[in-house]
Amino acid sequence: MSDADSNPTTESDSSQTATSTETATGSSRRSVDDPILELTDVVKRFGGITAVDGAAFEIERGSITGLIGPNGAGKSTTFNCITGVYEPDEGSIVFDGTDITGHAPNQVATAGLVRTFQIAREFPEMTVLENMMLAPKNQLGESLWQSVAPGTRGAVIREEEQFRERSWEVLEFFEIDHLAEEYAGTLSGGQRKLLELARALLTEPELLLLDEPMAGVNPSLEKKLLEHIHELQDQGYTFLLVEHDMDVIMNHTEHVIVMHQGSVLAEGNPESVKSDEAVIEAYLGGEV
Ligand code: ADP
Ligand code: MG
Repeated sequence: MSDADSNPTTESDSSQTATSTETATGSSRRSVDDPILELTDVVKRFGGITAVDGAAFEIERGSITGLIGPNGAGKSTTFNCITGVYEPDEGSIVFDGTDITGHAPNQVATAGLVRTFQIAREFPEMTVLENMMLAPKNQLGESLWQSVAPGTRGAVIREEEQFRERSWEVLEFFEIDHLAEEYAGTLSGGQRKLLELARALLTEPELLLLDEPMAGVNPSLEKKLLEHIHELQDQGYTFLLVEHDMDVIMNHTEHVIVMHQGSVLAEGNPESVKSDEAVIEAYLGGEV
């Protein structure tokens, strides 16, 4: 570790593994057993505004982690730094052991890290299936979807066909296959979120960053969406989600990171974070 001398709390300090809430005093960062994502002192400035100001956290592989904080806390900018939309001014981002700081969005996606947007970005004039077919298909590899591709014997399955097949499987998984031939513009807000998630899944990610996945989704579809997320977690996917609905955070995440003024104010299990005085104060001070 080349940066060991710049940080008095070294990796070997296993006392950091505690799951209790830690407020942002100094550079303390919870260390997890098997991090899929590690942010170290990430800074992103826009002119005079420091949107992200030393954000540092780790995401446990296989977890559903919530990223919360008042408006303007820096959540979206952090997402944008992680996914390569912005290059951080300082700090590093390590995904699955590889430093991806400053990598372009398509490189990050190819590496296995994808995001969805608060406003779904489907093409309304194209059908649902056509939207699926636009997902990056440059890395057909081993996946749960591939296991459903028809027989191995003799037939050389062309990539496009295989991709189409997988598109159907993912649409079936999300129970929107009956909408495959509909124009995406006719879908409800919730169905668009499902389509967005379905598309993200086609890129064979390991880690999915979801920006307000429940915004504009009706309660029954929200329940389904959450069930799907848990099913995917069971299959090994990792989720980091920004979500304003505290019921979703409390009931569906196992770890919560609270950002405030560009850095991590507190983190811990949902219960401990909810009762953390600094967190309550931060929320009361903002518009939420
Ligand atoms: P959150 O998603 O937590 O609401 P953001 O990351 O969107 O917070 O914003 C953090 C801060 O950075 C805010 O003060 C916001 O106004 C500012 N900011 C975000 N994006 C830009 C930008 N492109 N240019 C200038 N300021 C920005
Ligand atoms: Mg935001």
